[in-house]
Amino acid sequence: MKLNLKTTLYNLKHKSLVVCVLLCFYGLSIHAQTTNQQVKRLQRAIFVYNFAQQVGWPNQIDATQFKIGVLGPDRAIIDFKSLAQKRNINNKPVTVVNFNSVKDVKDVQLLYVNKSFNFDINYILNKISGQNILLVTEDYNYHTTMINMVNVGDSFEYEINNKTIDKEGFKIANSLQQYAISSSQKWKDLYQNSEADLEASKKIEAEQQENLVTKDAEILSQKQQINTQESKIDTILNTVVTQDKWIETLSNQSELHKQRFEDKVKIEQDLEDNIKRQIEFIKSQDQNIISRNLEIQKQHNFIQNQIAEIETKEFILKQKESQLNTQKTINILLITLISLAVLGGILIYRSYLSKKKLNKKLKDKNAAIQKQSLELEIKNDELEQFAYIASHDLKEPLITITGLIDLLVEEYEDKLDDNGKMSLNFISQSSARMQKLIDAILQYSRLGKSKNTTNINCNSVISILKDDLKNVIDRTESTIITTDLPTIKGAELELRLLFQNLISNGIKFTKKGVKPIISIDCNLQSNVESVDYWVFSITDNGIGIPEKHKDRIFSIFQRLHSRDEYEGTGIGLAHCKKIVEAHSGRIWLDSEVGKGTTFYFTIPA
Ligand code: ADP
Repeated sequence: MKLNLKTTLYNLKHKSLVVCVLLCFYGLSIHAQTTNQQVKRLQRAIFVYNFAQQVGWPNQIDATQFKIGVLGPDRAIIDFKSLAQKRNINNKPVTVVNFNSVKDVKDVQLLYVNKSFNFDINYILNKISGQNILLVTEDYNYHTTMINMVNVGDSFEYEINNKTIDKEGFKIANSLQQYAISSSQKWKDLYQNSEADLEASKKIEAEQQENLVTKDAEILSQKQQINTQESKIDTILNTVVTQDKWIETLSNQSELHKQRFEDKVKIEQDLEDNIKRQIEFIKSQDQNIISRNLEIQKQHNFIQNQIAEIETKEFILKQKESQLNTQKTINILLITLISLAVLGGILIYRSYLSKKKLNKKLKDKNAAIQKQSLELEIKNDELEQFAYIASHDLKEPLITITGLIDLLVEEYEDKLDDNGKMSLNFISQSSARMQKLIDAILQYSRLGKSKNTTNINCNSVISILKDDLKNVIDRTESTIITTDLPTIKGAELELRLLFQNLISNGIKFTKKGVKPIISIDCNLQSNVESVDYWVFSITDNGIGIPEKHKDRIFSIFQRLHSRDEYEGTGIGLAHCKKIVEAHSGRIWLDSEVGKGTTFYFTIPA
């Protein structure tokens, strides 16, 4: 990469060299005129040196050096000096001295003055007169100086003023005299020729000037290119410098790597030696190991035999162990079973004890209940006996009272005033009511006593009842609807009373203007002990019974209305309850006030 870069750089440098040459050419072209002037100045110097060579001085020159003086700030001094390094005059080395003022001029053999610096030639001639100084001038007027040079075209011509030359005692060599310009006609020709030459050279110069302009443009563009190239070169140079640094770093690193590699090689060598030593050691160890292995093999065989023996013993042991395990498991199972049996026994015993306790308690309670029941039965019997006797005994005087009232009505009604009649009527009604009540109590006390149970067809019972209640039914325009009712076992008269009371109540307890509708239904049901029983329902569309009175109305003489509202004794539902319970059933009701009531009772099937 570095090589490539260098090659590129070389190419660039090569290109820039070419450009430099072009520049030089440009420089040469630019300074072509200057160069011409330099050539002219050199020609001038050569002319001046030639004059010095071909002029004889009036007095012998003692000096070891030939001195040329130049008046004014003339560049000719440089040319004289450069020529002095190569040429001698009269076999003497030449020195060139510069003067700014004519007054200073002395100790020179030749004085050169150019008219362009405006020195007064007559004044100069006067000043140097008698000092053996050859005055060589340029562009002064004809015949005013000693030797005067004139620039014609690209070269110089000269004239010699023999008058002043002779006056100062100089001797001019023939060769110099021969080519000097001496007549005006000659000058004229010279000028004409030189004008033609000048024209031609002007033309050439103009062409050159044009070329110069073109070249200038070319050079300018080339300069720009150079600038671009140079900036590129600079960039590349910077890159190269960076690359160089990088390469240097890399080479440093590579040095380091080299060093490391050498170290590594050394370490590896050491390691190798070490490994070799270790291999030797391992080899000897190997021998040891082999002999030890043999020993180990022997021991191994011995151990193998022992292992085989142990395995055989282990096998036997395992067999015995498994036998033992089986035995253990059996034992554990046995123990568990025995424990469970004991536990079960304990539990059974405890449960037996607790059951025994409970049974005893139950027996005691049953006995107590039975005793209480008996007592209750006896008391009930006594009560019923009392009720029967009381009502029976009350009935006799009541009959007497009723007979007497009837007699009074028959015999003395005409003799009584209205109050007496009304009182007699009131007594008669009260006695009749009392009669009814006593009959009802008597009936109540007799209920449930009947042992005469028969199969009763409930459909027939309802049919008979409908006939019995025909008057009421017709009067109230009641409707009695029944489904197919079952045949049940019981006391017929009591059951008829039961149905009669419930149907009568259904008809009785309705709002005025409402025609009673009584529905009788029955279905078979089973209790939790799967004992079947009949559930009868008697539903009416009457006034309904408030929830809070649902139980109370089954008690004797409990009524919810006054006699003025609904006629009755308040003993009907008490009869019903007693009859149902005497048939081992129960009675209850569902009701919604204003909508109607359903009475339910059960009878064993
Ligand atoms: P009684 O009918 O002679 O008044 P009950 O023992 O038959 O006596 O009835 C007790 C009370 O229960 C009645 O006075 C009445 O208030 C109420 N009762 C009974 N049956 C019905 C019924 N079907 N609808 C509304 N109320 C009833």
